[in-house]
Amino acid sequence: MIFASDTFVLPLPPGHRFPMAKYARLRERVARIAPARMFVPEAASDVELGRAHDAGYVDAVSRGELDERAQRRIGFPWSPAMVERSRRSAGATLAACRSALASGLGINLAGGTHHAHRAHGEGFCVFNDAAVAAQAMRAEGRARRVLVVDLDVHQGDGTAAIFHGDANVTTLSVHGRQNFPFRKARSSIDVELDDGTGDDAYLATLAAVLPRAIDRARPDLAIYLAGADPFAGDRLGRLALTKAGLADRDRIVLDHLAAQGIPVAIAMAGGYAEDVDDVVDIHAATVTLALERHGVS
Ligand SMILES: [Zn+2]
Repeated sequence: MIFASDTFVLPLPPGHRFPMAKYARLRERVARIAPARMFVPEAASDVELGRAHDAGYVDAVSRGELDERAQRRIGFPWSPAMVERSRRSAGATLAACRSALASGLGINLAGGTHHAHRAHGEGFCVFNDAAVAAQAMRAEGRARRVLVVDLDVHQGDGTAAIFHGDANVTTLSVHGRQNFPFRKARSSIDVELDDGTGDDAYLATLAAVLPRAIDRARPDLAIYLAGADPFAGDRLGRLALTKAGLADRDRIVLDHLAAQGIPVAIAMAGGYAEDVDDVVDIHAATVTLALERHGVS
């Protein structure tokens, strides 16, 4: 099942660099491939959010009581629609995980808000969808051990911090050393890449580290953050992967998980190319490949 929350638009001032347009375009593209599989997710509840976040933070977001500094850290102005959007996006990854555990695959056409920490949001991330979803699967008794494979170009610092010391959730983050966040957290496994790393070095590194992460995690479920921002044309990414390289990246992840029979929920995460269509191309390719791998074409 594929979950899209793009109809819950986050109101942004003109010229804001968050690429809100990508979500509707991606949904339109994916709807052409798999129209019968598209669903609107439920909003994550306070209880679901509260398993990954401090109740005080969830309340402050919900009631519009974030102070100026907290809002600036997130990078979005507060609005009721911003809260709804954030809850739906977390709900989408949660629903994608349930779908993955039932059928092998679930997809959120948004999500990957991995800079959200337990008690604060940061870097366009309000709630940490992967953390909320992983905690929900454990609380619902659907999964005991979870692996988060975070291949967004930025470190999954919020996810790493939330699960630090939790032996049942393994966090793998492959990211740019010189990139945001400038103070990194400690994931279970971190791989830091230099600016300009291209396809060959990236793919070799991934192929080496992924089996190690799977061995360590022995997961019942994987959550894959398939960021489009390692792309060479990304304004924030600093790596130099091609679209073909990113497709190979997805193939490596999906093949390794499939070989061990591990269900996977995929979230899209970042993508800031000058041309939004490049971002949509990359995400659509991830979705297409995943559907093909799981016998849907
Ligand atoms: Zn990113």
